[in-house]
Amino acid sequence: MKTFDVVIIGGGGAGLTAALYTSRAKLNTLLLEKLVPGGQIALTDLVENYPGFPEGITGGEISQRMEKQAKRYGTQVAYEEVKSLVKNPSGTFEIKTASQTYEARALILAAGASFRTLGVQREKELTGRGVSYCATCDGAFFKEKDIIVVGGGDSAMQEGIFLTRFAKKVSVIHRRDKLRASPILQERAKQNTKIDFVWDTVVEKIQGDKKVEGVTLKNLKTQQVRDFKTDGVFVFVGHEPNTAFVKGFVELDDHGYVKTGESLTTSVPGVFAAGEIRTGAVKQLVSACGEGCEAALAAQAYLEH
Ligand code: NAP
Repeated sequence: MKTFDVVIIGGGGAGLTAALYTSRAKLNTLLLEKLVPGGQIALTDLVENYPGFPEGITGGEISQRMEKQAKRYGTQVAYEEVKSLVKNPSGTFEIKTASQTYEARALILAAGASFRTLGVQREKELTGRGVSYCATCDGAFFKEKDIIVVGGGDSAMQEGIFLTRFAKKVSVIHRRDKLRASPILQERAKQNTKIDFVWDTVVEKIQGDKKVEGVTLKNLKTQQVRDFKTDGVFVFVGHEPNTAFVKGFVELDDHGYVKTGESLTTSVPGVFAAGEIRTGAVKQLVSACGEGCEAALAAQAYLEH
């Protein structure tokens, strides 16, 4: 079994920054990531609010740069999904993936969150056939098409604006008459002539046999139900924490996020949590990176004592 000083679970902004700090502190560090470096950021077209990049930087590029920077100081990266964690009587931790078991003296949980689905009829079957959760990945398949974006937050606005590069028209379907998104993104979306808004409305059903052909919409104020033709359904309705592998290991809140204390400690000594996986995180790349740094310094202090 390979043993490390610190194992970091999750390779988004929080995990990669934690890895940079623990590696520079000469702690033998392993970062485990189940998909791609960067996490949610890697699926974002352009990051415009990370300080130091006045013109913005693509999500893909900043992710790769962060991984390269952590590796430069010795972080080892393995692309494996963590299945479970165990605390040994000696105080070390065992991290089990599908193929390996690793041992660590301290753990940083930075597995983030995954997109929430709508949970409506035909959504699962038509995913990849017109239903998507990633504009950067799938936008180019919708050239000159009519599509809908579901949600009223920053993701819906940012990704909706991005999708107007390809689509003929983007209809934002939002369940209220007020957007949750930040004012700058709201303003940009409202000024975009390719975007229109359908207020107080939810998607009840997605229609189509082999691919998306339309949706059934319901107005929550009038209760009116109608068919709406569309070629694509992009869903941006928030996230769920990636905490299935820590249930019963650390304390979670009612929504499944990891509870943290001062210095990003969890209910288990030696285990820290950073970024969107934890209760109260503000869900921005810059704050995820800041929390990664804080958790790394706390892990370092824990190991020194
Ligand atoms: P979010 O802020 O939680 O917004 C989710 C949106 O989806 C809300 O408008 C919500 O409606 C709606 N919604 C939730 N469940 C729904 C359902 N079942 N059916 C229909 N609509 C539903 O999520 P997000 O936009 O993904 O953003 C997540 C975090 O990342 C936020 O903190 C955001 O600021 C941040 N973020 C920032 C940027 C940026 O700074 N450029 C970009 C992307 C994301 P209600 O409003 O009615 O609740």
